Amino acid sequence: MDRLRIATVWLGGCSGCHMSFLDLDEFLIELAGMVDIVYSPVMDVKEYPENVDVCLIEGAVCNEDNLELVRQIRERTKVLVSFGDCAITANVPAIRNQLGLGNAESVLQRAYVEGAESNPGVPREAGIVPALLERVLPVHEVVRVEYFLPGCPPPAERIKALMVQVLSGAEPRLEGSQLKFG
Ligand code: SF4
Repeated sequence: MDRLRIATVWLGGCSGCHMSFLDLDEFLIELAGMVDIVYSPVMDVKEYPENVDVCLIEGAVCNEDNLELVRQIRERTKVLVSFGDCAITANVPAIRNQLGLGNAESVLQRAYVEGAESNPGVPREAGIVPALLERVLPVHEVVRVEYFLPGCPPPAERIKALMVQVLSGAEPRLEGSQLKFG
């Protein structure tokens, strides 16, 4: 059997979900024997590859770059997992949604002008700061998602349970806060 091609992606999140992934400890060594990690923030690959089997997506869709990447991921991946509460509900990054219309510009002004100790000014040149979306979105509002892995961050045991079952081809489902299979 071909080794599964796995990706992990970091959109608008704090990286805590990836830290929890690293908490898999020895299971990471087992995983390395079963799969190829083909794209991840912990490795140096610039372009999301074709023919990915499973992708764990951390974080919400906050800006135009996130939007473009998540659509490309969907086209190139069989199974998407919303990895953590920011991906599932938009969670912390979506706090700015409560400010309503104009919240994206308010955030930029706060970060680059009001909070600046020198050279205040929002960088507007192309390719520096990706344009913020007016509303931060959970991943499934942009593309179809097969599985949801809740938690802020999801505990390593829950990540392991999902990975083991996805790799074995079983169907995971959520009952309360527990992942069940079969
Ligand atoms: S779900 Fe929690 S740990 Fe994961 S990216 Fe969001 S804030 Fe960070």
